[in-house]
Amino acid sequence: METKLVDLLDKLNREHSLELEEYQFLLENINPDLMNLAAEYARKYQNQYYGNKVYIRGLVEFTNYCRNNCYYCGIRRGNNNCERYRLKADDIIACADEGYKLGFRTVVLQGGEDFTYSDEDICNIIKGIKASHNDMVITLSIGERERDSYQKYFDAGARRFLLRHETANPELYAKLHPKELSFEHRMKCLHDLKDIGYQVGAGFMVQSPGQTPKDIAMDLKFIEEFKPDMCGIGPFISHKETPFAKEASGTLEMTLFLISLLRMIYPQMLIPATTALGTIDPRGREKGIQAGANVVMPNLSPTSVRKMYTLYDNKICTGEEAAECINCLKNRIASVGYEIVTDVGNRAGFID
Ligand code: SAH
Repeated sequence: METKLVDLLDKLNREHSLELEEYQFLLENINPDLMNLAAEYARKYQNQYYGNKVYIRGLVEFTNYCRNNCYYCGIRRGNNNCERYRLKADDIIACADEGYKLGFRTVVLQGGEDFTYSDEDICNIIKGIKASHNDMVITLSIGERERDSYQKYFDAGARRFLLRHETANPELYAKLHPKELSFEHRMKCLHDLKDIGYQVGAGFMVQSPGQTPKDIAMDLKFIEEFKPDMCGIGPFISHKETPFAKEASGTLEMTLFLISLLRMIYPQMLIPATTALGTIDPRGREKGIQAGANVVMPNLSPTSVRKMYTLYDNKICTGEEAAECINCLKNRIASVGYEIVTDVGNRAGFID
């Protein structure tokens, strides 16, 4: 392998930081040896901070109504062929109950930006879950709202928030989203969330339409500087009812390589092996763990609505009951020498 590539990984291992051009050079020269070397470094940190433990989060996709019209997303407002659903507060709380019984100590409430749920509704759902399971950590992933709303959810008991930045390049942001969505507001939300005291998850799609290695290098620089507690990445996968229907999906290789680089950039960070990764490769999530990821997010949504929450085509795990889902994942994770644990799963070094 070219010594410059080996030297760059060595530098990243020592300094947890590279120049933008250096990241770009690594990404432009991705090859199997380079991926293996990065994964070795990544596993060293994964082992140091998390051993062979993999955290689980129970994902409840509670609404697929969305006011936004993101060009990549299957539940965009403009998709008239999307059958819509929204779960009632009691149903959402029941999903969390079931998750608790199955051993989950983190529940992620995710949805489109559905303002039918007022701040009060969201707070009542959070309080409803906390009332019976005070030791369960509640993560929200409901998109952009204003700071005072985020503060209300925090005061009601939510402690984590997933809001992918999608891309750190404002120009690419404008190519992936309609005009009414702004890069600045997304970034403001991320800073507000961190400021309020949430553990924050940023993240981006890998090889979204028009994304260049330089754009990805900008994402890595952003993660280096913003230091989110979690970074979720997955390949872009086209959805047939979106403007990007004909665009190529992101690759397994690039996603795995980026998981390893992220682990090297911020060794304690929580990094999920995402459903999108499991969708482009039958063993994608296992490979993600071996590349340095330490979180998986099995689905807890009622099976009756699973197929309707389709952000991209061919999404996996839309048929099984929650219990089956978790067993399947346990076996998959065990097959590569890791172990799923029942734990709230904070970032290593996180102080409550
Ligand atoms: N509406 C919420 C959360 C739901 S979307 C929000 O805005 O944060 C969750 C994530 O799925 C998005 O952040 C995006 O990165 C990813 N996603 C959406 N469409 C996708 C696609 N076609 N391929 C891969 N990932 C996609």
